[in-house]
Amino acid sequence: MIQAKAYAAPAADAPLVPVVIPRREPTARDVRIEILFCGVCHSDLHTARNEWSGVWPTVYPCVPGHEIVGRVTGIGASVTKHKVGDLVGVGCLVDSDHECPQCRADKEQFCSNATFTYNAPDKHGTAPVTYGGYSESIVVDERFVLRIPSNLDLAGVAPLLCAGITTYSPLHRGQKEGLVGPGKKVGIVGLGGLGHMGVKFARAMGAHVVVFTTSEKKRTDALRLGAHEVVVSRNPGEMEKHAGSFHFILDCVAAEHDLNAYIQLLGVQGNLTLVGAPEKPLPLGVFGLLFGAKSVSGSLIGGIAETQEMLDFCGKHGITADVEIIPIQKINDAYERMIRSDVKYRFSIDMASLKG
Ligand SMILES: [Zn+2]
Ligand SMILES: [Zn+2]
Repeated sequence: MIQAKAYAAPAADAPLVPVVIPRREPTARDVRIEILFCGVCHSDLHTARNEWSGVWPTVYPCVPGHEIVGRVTGIGASVTKHKVGDLVGVGCLVDSDHECPQCRADKEQFCSNATFTYNAPDKHGTAPVTYGGYSESIVVDERFVLRIPSNLDLAGVAPLLCAGITTYSPLHRGQKEGLVGPGKKVGIVGLGGLGHMGVKFARAMGAHVVVFTTSEKKRTDALRLGAHEVVVSRNPGEMEKHAGSFHFILDCVAAEHDLNAYIQLLGVQGNLTLVGAPEKPLPLGVFGLLFGAKSVSGSLIGGIAETQEMLDFCGKHGITADVEIIPIQKINDAYERMIRSDVKYRFSIDMASLKG
Protein backbone atom coordinates (compact mmCIF):
# COMPACT_ATOMS: atom_id res chain seq x y z
CA MET A 1 0.00 0.00 0.00
CA ILE A 2 1.10 3.56 -0.79
CA GLN A 3 0.37 6.39 1.67
CA ALA A 4 -0.76 9.60 -0.01
CA LYS A 5 -1.41 13.09 1.35
CA ALA A 6 -4.96 14.29 0.76
CA TYR A 7 -7.74 16.59 1.97
CA ALA A 8 -10.89 14.98 3.32
CA ALA A 9 -14.20 15.91 4.90
CA PRO A 10 -14.30 14.00 8.23
CA ALA A 11 -18.08 14.57 8.62
CA ALA A 12 -20.98 16.29 6.86
CA ASP A 13 -20.77 19.41 9.00
CA ALA A 14 -16.97 19.67 9.28
CA PRO A 15 -14.50 21.51 7.03
CA LEU A 16 -12.04 19.54 4.91
CA VAL A 17 -8.74 18.81 6.68
CA PRO A 18 -5.37 17.28 5.74
CA VAL A 19 -5.27 13.48 5.99
CA VAL A 20 -3.17 10.55 4.79
CA ILE A 21 -5.00 7.95 2.69
CA PRO A 22 -4.01 4.57 1.26
CA ARG A 23 -3.58 4.03 -2.48
CA ARG A 24 -3.13 0.52 -3.85
CA GLU A 25 0.13 -0.69 -5.42
CA PRO A 26 -0.52 -0.65 -9.19
CA THR A 27 -1.90 -3.97 -10.45
CA ALA A 28 -0.96 -5.17 -13.97
CA ARG A 29 -3.57 -2.85 -15.58
CA ASP A 30 -3.07 0.17 -13.34
CA VAL A 31 -1.52 3.55 -13.89
CA ARG A 32 -0.11 5.52 -10.97
CA ILE A 33 -0.57 9.27 -11.36
CA GLU A 34 0.99 12.22 -9.57
CA ILE A 35 -1.88 14.74 -9.47
CA LEU A 36 -0.95 18.25 -10.67
CA PHE A 37 -4.37 19.97 -10.73
CA CYS A 38 -7.86 19.03 -9.61
CA GLY A 39 -10.96 21.05 -10.50
CA VAL A 40 -13.63 21.78 -7.91
CA CYS A 41 -17.11 20.60 -8.95
CA HIS A 42 -20.46 21.26 -7.21
CA SER A 43 -20.77 17.48 -6.76
CA ASP A 44 -17.69 17.61 -4.52
CA LEU A 45 -19.46 19.97 -2.14
CA HIS A 46 -22.77 18.07 -2.25
CA THR A 47 -20.97 14.83 -1.44
CA ALA A 48 -18.65 16.27 1.23
CA ARG A 49 -21.72 17.65 3.03
CA ASN A 50 -23.85 14.54 2.48
CA GLU A 51 -26.49 16.58 0.63
CA TRP A 52 -27.39 13.62 -1.58
CA SER A 53 -27.92 11.31 1.41
CA GLY A 54 -31.25 10.10 0.00
CA VAL A 55 -29.74 8.59 -3.15
CA TRP A 56 -26.04 8.39 -2.40
CA PRO A 57 -25.05 8.69 1.28
CA THR A 58 -21.50 9.82 1.93
CA VAL A 59 -19.00 7.52 3.65
CA TYR A 60 -16.45 9.41 5.78
CA PRO A 61 -13.72 10.38 5.53
CA CYS A 62 -14.63 11.69 2.06
CA VAL A 63 -11.93 12.77 -0.41
CA PRO A 64 -13.73 14.55 -3.29
CA GLY A 65 -12.36 15.53 -6.70
CA HIS A 66 -13.11 14.14 -10.15
CA GLU A 67 -11.47 16.66 -12.46
CA ILE A 68 -7.96 15.26 -12.25
CA VAL A 69 -4.90 16.10 -14.33
CA GLY A 70 -1.49 14.65 -13.62
CA ARG A 71 1.62 12.86 -14.78
CA VAL A 72 2.16 9.11 -14.94
CA THR A 73 4.74 7.98 -12.38
CA GLY A 74 4.30 4.22 -12.63
CA ILE A 75 2.54 1.56 -14.71
CA GLY A 76 1.56 -2.07 -14.26
CA ALA A 77 3.12 -4.84 -16.37
CA SER A 78 0.23 -5.07 -18.87
CA VAL A 79 -0.35 -1.35 -19.41
CA THR A 80 -0.10 -0.37 -23.09
CA LYS A 81 -2.02 2.93 -23.36
CA HIS A 82 0.22 5.06 -21.16
CA LYS A 83 3.88 5.36 -20.14
CA VAL A 84 5.78 7.01 -17.34
CA GLY A 85 5.94 10.79 -17.90
CA ASP A 86 2.69 11.07 -19.92
CA LEU A 87 0.21 13.83 -19.09
CA VAL A 88 -3.10 12.18 -18.27
CA GLY A 89 -6.55 12.89 -16.90
CA VAL A 90 -9.16 11.09 -14.82
CA GLY A 91 -12.80 12.15 -14.67
CA CYS A 92 -15.89 10.94 -12.81
CA LEU A 93 -15.36 7.22 -13.45
CA VAL A 94 -12.49 4.91 -12.50
CA ASP A 95 -13.96 1.52 -13.44
CA SER A 96 -16.96 -0.42 -14.77
CA ASP A 97 -17.78 -4.07 -15.54
CA HIS A 98 -16.63 -3.68 -19.18
CA GLU A 99 -19.18 -6.21 -20.43
CA CYS A 100 -22.75 -4.94 -20.06
CA PRO A 101 -24.61 -3.45 -23.05
CA GLN A 102 -23.86 0.10 -21.83
CA CYS A 103 -20.13 -0.59 -21.55
CA ARG A 104 -20.09 -2.26 -24.97
CA ALA A 105 -21.77 0.85 -26.39
CA ASP A 106 -19.03 3.09 -24.85
CA LYS A 107 -21.49 4.50 -22.32
CA GLU A 108 -19.72 3.42 -19.14
CA GLN A 109 -21.41 6.27 -17.24
CA PHE A 110 -24.64 4.22 -17.35
CA CYS A 111 -23.07 0.90 -16.34
CA SER A 112 -24.87 -0.38 -13.25
CA ASN A 113 -21.48 -1.58 -11.97
CA ALA A 114 -19.59 1.63 -12.69
CA THR A 115 -17.15 2.79 -10.02
CA PHE A 116 -17.24 6.53 -9.49
CA THR A 117 -14.02 8.34 -8.64
CA TYR A 118 -15.02 9.07 -5.06
CA ASN A 119 -17.55 7.78 -2.51
CA ALA A 120 -18.09 4.52 -4.44
CA PRO A 121 -17.40 1.04 -3.02
CA ASP A 122 -13.70 0.30 -3.64
CA LYS A 123 -13.49 -2.97 -5.63
CA HIS A 124 -9.83 -3.33 -4.70
CA GLY A 125 -10.58 -3.10 -0.98
CA THR A 126 -7.90 -0.46 -0.41
CA ALA A 127 -10.44 1.55 1.60
CA PRO A 128 -14.22 1.28 2.14
CA VAL A 129 -14.85 3.75 -0.69
CA THR A 130 -12.88 5.31 -3.53
CA TYR A 131 -10.97 8.50 -2.78
CA GLY A 132 -10.88 11.31 -5.34
CA GLY A 133 -8.46 13.88 -6.65
CA TYR A 134 -7.88 16.18 -3.66
CA SER A 135 -4.73 14.16 -3.18
CA GLU A 136 -1.10 14.00 -4.30
CA SER A 137 -1.62 10.77 -6.23
CA ILE A 138 -4.16 8.25 -7.51
CA VAL A 139 -4.02 4.74 -9.01
CA VAL A 140 -6.48 4.02 -11.84
CA ASP A 141 -7.18 1.23 -14.36
CA GLU A 142 -5.57 2.33 -17.65
CA ARG A 143 -8.88 2.03 -19.48
CA PHE A 144 -10.18 4.98 -17.44
CA VAL A 145 -7.09 7.14 -17.87
CA LEU A 146 -7.25 9.75 -20.64
CA ARG A 147 -4.54 11.36 -22.79
CA ILE A 148 -4.15 15.14 -22.42
CA PRO A 149 -3.20 17.20 -25.51
CA SER A 150 0.24 18.76 -24.95
CA ASN A 151 -0.72 22.29 -26.09
CA LEU A 152 -3.19 23.08 -23.29
CA ASP A 153 -2.77 24.84 -19.93
CA LEU A 154 -3.13 22.10 -17.31
CA ALA A 155 -4.96 24.13 -14.64
CA GLY A 156 -7.64 24.89 -17.23
CA VAL A 157 -7.71 21.30 -18.50
CA ALA A 158 -8.76 19.81 -15.14
CA PRO A 159 -12.42 21.01 -15.31
CA LEU A 160 -12.77 19.49 -18.79
CA LEU A 161 -12.91 16.07 -17.10
CA CYS A 162 -16.37 16.79 -15.63
CA ALA A 163 -17.74 20.23 -16.63
CA GLY A 164 -16.24 19.79 -20.11
CA ILE A 165 -17.62 16.37 -20.96
CA THR A 166 -20.98 17.21 -19.31
CA THR A 167 -21.53 19.99 -21.85
CA TYR A 168 -19.64 18.54 -24.83
CA SER A 169 -21.59 15.27 -24.87
CA PRO A 170 -25.09 16.74 -25.40
CA LEU A 171 -23.81 19.34 -27.88
CA HIS A 172 -22.00 16.61 -29.81
CA ARG A 173 -25.20 14.54 -29.83
CA GLY A 174 -27.00 17.65 -31.14
CA GLN A 175 -24.31 17.92 -33.82
CA LYS A 176 -24.97 14.32 -34.94
CA GLU A 177 -28.72 15.04 -35.01
CA GLY A 178 -28.22 18.13 -37.19
CA LEU A 179 -29.26 20.58 -34.44
CA VAL A 180 -25.82 22.02 -33.61
CA GLY A 181 -23.33 23.39 -36.16
CA PRO A 182 -23.01 26.03 -38.88
CA GLY A 183 -26.37 27.67 -39.64
CA LYS A 184 -27.90 26.36 -36.40
CA LYS A 185 -29.00 28.52 -33.47
CA VAL A 186 -27.90 27.17 -30.09
CA GLY A 187 -28.85 28.55 -26.69
CA ILE A 188 -26.83 28.11 -23.49
CA VAL A 189 -28.82 28.77 -20.30
CA GLY A 190 -26.75 29.88 -17.31
CA LEU A 191 -23.16 31.12 -17.42
CA GLY A 192 -21.37 29.22 -14.66
CA GLY A 193 -18.87 26.36 -14.59
CA LEU A 194 -20.95 24.29 -17.03
CA GLY A 195 -22.42 27.11 -19.12
CA HIS A 196 -19.11 28.79 -19.90
CA MET A 197 -17.83 25.48 -21.33
CA GLY A 198 -21.07 25.07 -23.32
CA VAL A 199 -20.48 28.47 -24.95
CA LYS A 200 -16.93 27.55 -25.98
CA PHE A 201 -17.94 24.18 -27.43
CA ALA A 202 -21.03 25.43 -29.28
CA ARG A 203 -18.96 28.25 -30.80
CA ALA A 204 -16.17 25.86 -31.84
CA MET A 205 -18.78 23.58 -33.45
CA GLY A 206 -19.74 26.52 -35.68
CA ALA A 207 -23.19 27.33 -34.26
CA HIS A 208 -24.75 30.75 -33.70
CA VAL A 209 -24.55 30.93 -29.90
CA VAL A 210 -26.97 32.79 -27.65
CA VAL A 211 -26.36 32.93 -23.87
CA PHE A 212 -29.28 33.27 -21.47
CA THR A 213 -28.40 34.78 -18.12
CA THR A 214 -30.34 36.37 -15.27
CA SER A 215 -27.54 38.84 -14.70
CA GLU A 216 -26.94 41.87 -16.93
CA LYS A 217 -23.42 41.92 -15.46
CA LYS A 218 -22.49 38.74 -17.37
CA ARG A 219 -23.19 40.22 -20.81
CA THR A 220 -19.61 41.33 -21.56
CA ASP A 221 -18.12 38.09 -20.31
CA ALA A 222 -20.53 35.95 -22.34
CA LEU A 223 -19.47 37.76 -25.52
CA ARG A 224 -15.80 37.38 -24.60
CA LEU A 225 -16.30 33.63 -24.12
CA GLY A 226 -17.71 33.31 -27.63
CA ALA A 227 -21.43 34.09 -27.55
CA HIS A 228 -22.85 35.94 -30.57
CA GLU A 229 -25.79 37.29 -28.56
CA VAL A 230 -26.77 37.56 -24.90
CA VAL A 231 -30.34 37.56 -23.58
CA VAL A 232 -31.16 38.63 -20.04
CA SER A 233 -33.87 36.09 -19.30
CA ARG A 234 -35.64 38.34 -16.78
CA ASN A 235 -36.62 40.70 -19.64
CA PRO A 236 -39.72 39.21 -21.35
CA GLY A 237 -39.25 41.50 -24.34
CA GLU A 238 -35.75 40.14 -25.02
CA MET A 239 -37.01 36.54 -24.70
CA GLU A 240 -39.97 37.06 -27.07
CA LYS A 241 -37.73 38.24 -29.88
CA HIS A 242 -36.28 34.69 -30.08
CA ALA A 243 -39.59 32.74 -29.99
CA GLY A 244 -39.55 29.57 -32.10
CA SER A 245 -36.04 30.18 -33.45
CA PHE A 246 -33.69 27.73 -31.67
CA HIS A 247 -32.54 24.35 -32.92
CA PHE A 248 -31.00 23.32 -29.62
CA ILE A 249 -30.84 24.72 -26.09
CA LEU A 250 -28.46 23.43 -23.41
CA ASP A 251 -29.82 24.22 -19.95
CA CYS A 252 -27.03 24.31 -17.35
CA VAL A 253 -29.05 25.72 -14.44
CA ALA A 254 -29.31 23.71 -11.21
CA ALA A 255 -31.67 26.18 -9.49
CA GLU A 256 -35.44 26.24 -9.88
CA HIS A 257 -36.43 27.96 -13.16
CA ASP A 258 -39.10 28.00 -15.88
CA LEU A 259 -38.47 25.37 -18.56
CA ASN A 260 -41.53 26.42 -20.55
CA ALA A 261 -39.97 29.80 -21.29
CA TYR A 262 -37.19 27.94 -23.15
CA ILE A 263 -39.45 25.37 -24.84
CA GLN A 264 -41.24 28.36 -26.38
CA LEU A 265 -37.98 29.49 -27.92
CA LEU A 266 -37.39 26.15 -29.71
CA GLY A 267 -38.30 25.75 -33.37
CA VAL A 268 -40.04 22.68 -34.83
CA GLN A 269 -38.35 19.50 -33.58
CA GLY A 270 -35.99 21.55 -31.47
CA ASN A 271 -34.44 20.00 -28.38
CA LEU A 272 -33.88 21.28 -24.85
CA THR A 273 -31.26 19.26 -22.97
CA LEU A 274 -30.84 19.62 -19.22
CA VAL A 275 -27.51 19.03 -17.48
CA GLY A 276 -28.20 20.85 -14.20
CA ALA A 277 -30.17 19.00 -11.52
CA PRO A 278 -32.73 21.18 -9.70
CA GLU A 279 -33.70 19.68 -6.35
CA LYS A 280 -37.49 19.83 -6.91
CA PRO A 281 -39.51 18.74 -9.99
CA LEU A 282 -40.06 21.49 -12.58
CA PRO A 283 -43.51 22.06 -14.15
CA LEU A 284 -43.60 21.12 -17.83
CA GLY A 285 -46.33 22.47 -20.13
CA VAL A 286 -46.94 19.54 -22.48
CA PHE A 287 -48.83 21.64 -25.06
CA GLY A 288 -45.60 23.52 -25.64
CA LEU A 289 -43.97 20.24 -26.68
CA LEU A 290 -46.82 19.00 -28.89
CA PHE A 291 -46.92 22.08 -31.11
CA GLY A 292 -43.65 21.65 -32.96
CA ALA A 293 -42.85 18.09 -31.81
CA LYS A 294 -40.20 19.47 -29.49
CA SER A 295 -38.27 17.35 -27.02
CA VAL A 296 -36.73 17.68 -23.59
CA SER A 297 -33.74 15.47 -22.70
CA GLY A 298 -31.22 14.90 -19.96
CA SER A 299 -27.53 14.11 -20.23
CA LEU A 300 -24.92 12.79 -17.79
CA ILE A 301 -21.16 13.28 -18.33
CA GLY A 302 -20.01 10.94 -21.15
CA GLY A 303 -18.31 7.61 -21.79
CA ILE A 304 -14.54 7.20 -21.83
CA ALA A 305 -14.19 7.21 -25.65
CA GLU A 306 -16.25 10.37 -25.91
CA THR A 307 -14.30 12.02 -23.09
CA GLN A 308 -11.09 11.35 -25.04
CA GLU A 309 -12.72 12.76 -28.17
CA MET A 310 -13.70 15.89 -26.19
CA LEU A 311 -10.10 16.34 -24.96
CA ASP A 312 -8.76 15.94 -28.50
CA PHE A 313 -11.37 18.48 -29.71
CA CYS A 314 -10.11 20.88 -27.00
CA GLY A 315 -6.52 20.34 -28.14
CA LYS A 316 -7.47 21.10 -31.76
CA HIS A 317 -9.48 24.23 -30.89
CA GLY A 318 -7.34 25.46 -27.96
CA ILE A 319 -10.20 25.15 -25.48
CA THR A 320 -9.74 25.07 -21.70
CA ALA A 321 -11.90 26.17 -18.77
CA ASP A 322 -11.48 29.66 -17.30
CA VAL A 323 -10.12 28.92 -13.85
CA GLU A 324 -9.04 30.55 -10.61
CA ILE A 325 -6.11 28.56 -9.26
CA ILE A 326 -6.16 27.96 -5.50
CA PRO A 327 -3.95 26.10 -3.03
CA ILE A 328 -5.66 23.12 -1.36
CA GLN A 329 -5.60 25.03 1.95
CA LYS A 330 -8.27 27.39 0.48
CA ILE A 331 -10.74 24.62 -0.36
CA ASN A 332 -13.27 25.38 2.39
CA ASP A 333 -13.32 29.05 1.40
CA ALA A 334 -13.71 27.98 -2.25
CA TYR A 335 -16.83 25.95 -1.35
CA GLU A 336 -18.43 29.00 0.29
CA ARG A 337 -17.58 31.14 -2.74
CA MET A 338 -18.93 28.47 -5.11
CA ILE A 339 -22.30 28.59 -3.30
CA ARG A 340 -22.37 32.35 -3.95
CA SER A 341 -21.37 31.78 -7.63
CA ASP A 342 -18.30 33.88 -6.83
CA VAL A 343 -15.90 32.20 -9.26
CA LYS A 344 -14.97 32.70 -12.91
CA TYR A 345 -15.68 29.98 -13.78
CA ARG A 346 -14.13 27.06 -11.96
CA PHE A 347 -11.64 26.61 -9.13
CA SER A 348 -8.61 24.52 -10.01
CA ILE A 349 -6.50 23.28 -7.10
CA ASP A 350 -2.74 23.46 -7.62
CA MET A 351 -1.78 20.18 -5.97
CA ALA A 352 1.82 21.31 -5.44
CA SER A 353 0.33 23.15 -2.44
CA LEU A 354 -0.24 19.80 -0.74
CA LYS A 355 3.50 19.08 -0.66
CA GLY A 356 4.40 22.06 1.55
ZN1 LIG B 1 -18.41 17.00 -11.43
ZN1 LIG C 1 -21.03 -2.13 -17.73
